[in-house]
Amino acid sequence: MNFTELEIQNIENELEEIINAFQNRGTEQDKEEIRRAFRFAYDAHFPIRRKSGEPYIIHPINVAKICAQELNMDKNALIAALLHDVVEDTDITIDNVRENFGSDVANLVEGLTKISGAMNNMYDSAQIENFRKIFISMAQDYRVILIKLADRLHNIRTLDSLARHKQLKIASETLIIYGPLAERLGLYRIKTELEDNAFRISQPQEYAKIAQKLKDTEQQRILLINKFSLPIAAKLTEQRYDFEIDGRPKSIYSIYKKMVRKKIPFEEIYDIYAIRIIFEPKENEGTEKEQCLKIYSYITDCYKPHPTRFRDWLSNPKENGYEALHSTVMGPTGQWVEVQIRSYRMNSIAENGIASHFLYKGWQSNEVKLEKWLSMIKKVLTSDAQVDVSSTSEYLTSMIKNSEIVVFTPKGEHFYLPDGATVLDFAYALGPQIGEKAALAIVNHEQRPLNFKLRSGDQVKIITATVQKPTHEWVNYATTVNALTQIRRFLHEEAEQLAPKGEAKIKELLEKLQIKFTERIIEKLRQHYQISENDPHIYVLAKVAQDNLDSESFKQILKKYTQERKINFFQFILSREDEKKDKSQRKQYVPAECCIPIPGDDVVGYELVPGVITIHKVGCSVAMDLNAKHGDKIVPVSFLKEEHKAFIAELTFEGIDRVGIVRDLTNVLSTDLNINIREIYFRAYDGIFEGSIKLYTRNVQDLENVISKLKKTKGVNKINRK
Ligand code: MN
Repeated sequence: MNFTELEIQNIENELEEIINAFQNRGTEQDKEEIRRAFRFAYDAHFPIRRKSGEPYIIHPINVAKICAQELNMDKNALIAALLHDVVEDTDITIDNVRENFGSDVANLVEGLTKISGAMNNMYDSAQIENFRKIFISMAQDYRVILIKLADRLHNIRTLDSLARHKQLKIASETLIIYGPLAERLGLYRIKTELEDNAFRISQPQEYAKIAQKLKDTEQQRILLINKFSLPIAAKLTEQRYDFEIDGRPKSIYSIYKKMVRKKIPFEEIYDIYAIRIIFEPKENEGTEKEQCLKIYSYITDCYKPHPTRFRDWLSNPKENGYEALHSTVMGPTGQWVEVQIRSYRMNSIAENGIASHFLYKGWQSNEVKLEKWLSMIKKVLTSDAQVDVSSTSEYLTSMIKNSEIVVFTPKGEHFYLPDGATVLDFAYALGPQIGEKAALAIVNHEQRPLNFKLRSGDQVKIITATVQKPTHEWVNYATTVNALTQIRRFLHEEAEQLAPKGEAKIKELLEKLQIKFTERIIEKLRQHYQISENDPHIYVLAKVAQDNLDSESFKQILKKYTQERKINFFQFILSREDEKKDKSQRKQYVPAECCIPIPGDDVVGYELVPGVITIHKVGCSVAMDLNAKHGDKIVPVSFLKEEHKAFIAELTFEGIDRVGIVRDLTNVLSTDLNINIREIYFRAYDGIFEGSIKLYTRNVQDLENVISKLKKTKGVNKINRK
């Protein structure tokens, strides 16, 4: 099973493309090493083919090509890309890789192998654990993330021949993890391609609809963009700027997300496209930023700006390095149009993010931020407190998100926080000591609570109190991983301390009530204290330790979270009434379910089915309706005189919940002909059985009779008359 001449030629060509893309970044010796890695991978994978039929080596080659052409990566990264599947799919070991290519390459390949191992277990119960593994591997070295993104990009470009369930798995991982990761690193072009492909695969019809609408509206859009751009282009030409104006539409997936989020149709999205003005800064005419602002002023000479939609990513670039000036202006046709102003350098960062680091020097400040982010992920994921405070996948993926807002201290220091961050998040950003003692904040000279949402530009002073400490509520107040981790750690330590006391208390209360301890009891207390299912046991115990729980309220809690077993007894009682009333007639009297008449009520009967008389209360609305429609079916009835003197009694009883007890009790009740049960229910919890009966009886003797019969039933310990 050999490769054809054409296939081999193809493989060789692809390799040369990698070498060409790498051209300026390394020596001849480096290139030789890349070729050696290629041979190594080629031999390892030979003669395996992909599902599509092409030689397997085509995949690692293409991954390396993306790393070389689109991500501008270094020699070792390209080698690792070529070798990324050899440990997973062939007999080659990490040690073999280390012997041949050194430990830097081996570490990268090991990280990539771990990720794919974890990904394959994604549908196991330990999904969160797998997420953690993925993030930990990635956080070791950002090159692992980039190669993994290239791997995913090539896979998603070429997954047509895979089985549907595999396609869907790849698509959902891409939307949940890889798209947001690419965005976090500023790789917008890759993010868009990943997400649009994943969306096309997972929701082909929705994708096709939007793609079609974009196509249908393209001509019209081009006209609008031209009309809008013309005066701006004239102005910039007059000012001798080297520039281009671009009006590409948003990605299909982001249009879809907006339609879903805002619940609006395609036609109502006003920012299907944004106008990008990309320019080369002129020498000796001020900084890039100054020139951006100058261009902004030319634009607002032509069009009126929206009073609030203005974002300055020049003074405060996004955490992933994004720089630009965004403004929304009223276009010539009366529609709002978003305009983004960037230099070519900024544009390269906007499209290639971290990858443009290699092209434009002097981007160190963003590298520092990236390092901070990676070390934060490492710290959070490897901290012990995190282990049993197991979290959701949203929690982990929230770590990927960019910080969008900038908040200032009264001294003018600034902090980046994610969109939606609260006062409490900011307090923890200042340090755990401040976070834990935070009581409230002064935001722009006004007093605000801990869950107050901050906005970009807010000046915030945190007021602390010595008596303050984190509570379970704080978990709802905080949004950043940093704050949540600190709060959870505090709560966890506190719970560990209090748990033994709580456990002893529960045991004491159970003893008093003679109830056996079961796991269900903890679950009921969890519901009572509204402690999340994700939180461990000890949180419930700690809460009990802090609460003044007496045995009566404890019993109420156990009872409250128990499902009642209600049993309606009426049917058979009334059919007995029939016998008592007139034994000669073979008629059946049935209480109507709508009004459930009881002895003493004024009643009326309807013989809708021959032989069966349904009894309603006189005022019942269904009866009124029947009167109107079936006047001829009315049967005058009334309860026997003696029944009027019947009195209502309520019995409650308690016992041990055993199999068959309900049946035994109902047998006792149904053999006694002198009582008339109005309502009965049973309830069992934690081994205890409880019930109550409301009944009508004509004399105390009959009632005593029932009580003594019930008492004889096995399992019933106690009967009380209310
Ligand atoms: Mn791969």
